[in-house]
Amino acid sequence: MHYDGAELKLSPMTFIEASIQILRENKYKITGPRMAVLNVLESAKVPLSAYDIEEHVPENIPINVVTIYRVLDVFETLNIIHKVHTKEGYVRCDFEQQKGCHSFAICNKCGRADEFIQEKCDLKSTLPKKLAYKSLSHISELSGVCEQCA
Ligand SMILES: [Zn+2]
Ligand SMILES: [Zn+2]
Ligand SMILES: [Zn+2]
Repeated sequence: MHYDGAELKLSPMTFIEASIQILRENKYKITGPRMAVLNVLESAKVPLSAYDIEEHVPENIPINVVTIYRVLDVFETLNIIHKVHTKEGYVRCDFEQQKGCHSFAICNKCGRADEFIQEKCDLKSTLPKKLAYKSLSHISELSGVCEQCA
């Protein structure tokens, strides 16, 4: 069999691989605490708080909530994760660096947060001119009851 490398490029990166790449591109080191938080958020089904994340990190990895908040700040700035305000927790981004507004449908019963992209969101264009904000971003959150809980 002959492999020319093209096939490797076609296989999608995992959340962790993509996150490591984004960290490196932005000159952030791959540290133990950053890897620990990535590992927890990779498989989380519901938004997690810093305290939830601390509980899920294996005991042999030294980490505290202050460190976790610092890690979450970096990840949120790089759009590796999002803060879900309705649940006061953090989730991984499922649409790595994709354009458009990253938005969530959130279940009031089980707490799951399903991400979707709004490609033609015009919220920013509705900002009155006198509010001369720069670098605007936002996350839309819709809440309701998911299919499984209905
Ligand atoms: Zn996203
Ligand atoms: Zn549900
Ligand atoms: Zn939007």
